[in-house]
Amino acid sequence: MPLTVALIVAAGRGLRFGGPLPKQYRLLAGVPVLRRSALAYLGHPGIDAVRIVIDPAARDLYDAAVGALGLPEPLAGGADRQESVRRGLEALAREAPAPDRVLIHDAARPLVDAATIAGVIAALDDAPGAIAAVPLADTLKRAAASGGDRPAVAGTVDRGGLWRAQTPQGFRFPPILHAHRAAAGAALTDDAAVAEAAGLPVRLVPSSEENFKVTTEADLARAEALLTAVAESRTGTGFDVHRFGPGDHVVLCGVRIPHDRGLVGHSDADVGLHAITDALLGAIGAGDIGQHFPPTDPQWRGAASDAFLAHAAGLIAARGGRIVHVDVTLIAERPKIGPHRDAMVDRISEILAVPADRVSVKATTTEGLGFTGRREGIAAQAAATVALPPARPA
Ligand code: MG
Repeated sequence: MPLTVALIVAAGRGLRFGGPLPKQYRLLAGVPVLRRSALAYLGHPGIDAVRIVIDPAARDLYDAAVGALGLPEPLAGGADRQESVRRGLEALAREAPAPDRVLIHDAARPLVDAATIAGVIAALDDAPGAIAAVPLADTLKRAAASGGDRPAVAGTVDRGGLWRAQTPQGFRFPPILHAHRAAAGAALTDDAAVAEAAGLPVRLVPSSEENFKVTTEADLARAEALLTAVAESRTGTGFDVHRFGPGDHVVLCGVRIPHDRGLVGHSDADVGLHAITDALLGAIGAGDIGQHFPPTDPQWRGAASDAFLAHAAGLIAARGGRIVHVDVTLIAERPKIGPHRDAMVDRISEILAVPADRVSVKATTTEGLGFTGRREGIAAQAAATVALPPARPA
């Protein structure tokens, strides 16, 4: 397999952004832009190593942004982007082994997706260069040379065959190194232009509109909105019953309540937490409580049901999801639930790590009818809503 290195260019000083920090070090939904870009490549199966080109004067910012990711030493950039890339390539050429392929990426494109990266890598099988790009959708107008804020239209430009270039821009390593050496000082706007100047064929690989460059405050806000968007809101339901047997207490929604009978079950028979657990599992299509915690498994004998609920919450967190609310109704003649309701809400809130105002516990009787009315057991039903994010790298 060819050795493929991602070279992330983060040496810009962010003059256009105007803020106190260069844009690649700004926080985007709580994570530095550069860290998001690095993670997109670090986790990619087609990438063997990630190297980052920085302004050495910004070393403290770099360490704060990507510390603990275990990256090799950053490479020193130059006065402008083209010079920074050339210096990065020269540094890679001095290492052993030098890469076979390099994907050059703007640190300020944190929303690059895995399919685009894979597409650029695959295209390098057929050509020495390949770049992420999107075909133009808007009609292009040429503005008259004069006319102030609202210049006259001087003509319509045929957009046929026009694409907007993004990054990654991938190349076989030796030819792009030679092309950059030859183009040093030429002020070309991207690496594909450097390759073209050297006569290297470059392929266009369809990318995503979301792989835009964060250049302005409005771009940062747009990227933040995309990252925090709820792609899906899902609701699950749960239902559970346990019968009464000998005992001196019941456990309902994590709260021990003295009673003249107990509830029979393999675990602590907490119908409330079981119903909520099933509602949460149902919201993410993850089966039911019996699949995750088989009643035949001795390790759950007498177990506190907190663990079941926490497990469901963990599965949701692992998908980047958030619990919007849970709502449970306990169906019983006795014991009286009212005096324990606040404690139940607090306990569920604690186990799920969600605010108490997102937890609801209600109770009803069945007016003496049915098994709950005859006080043979307790039933519980629950609903839960979960917000799942769009699929993308963390
Ligand atoms: Mg149960």
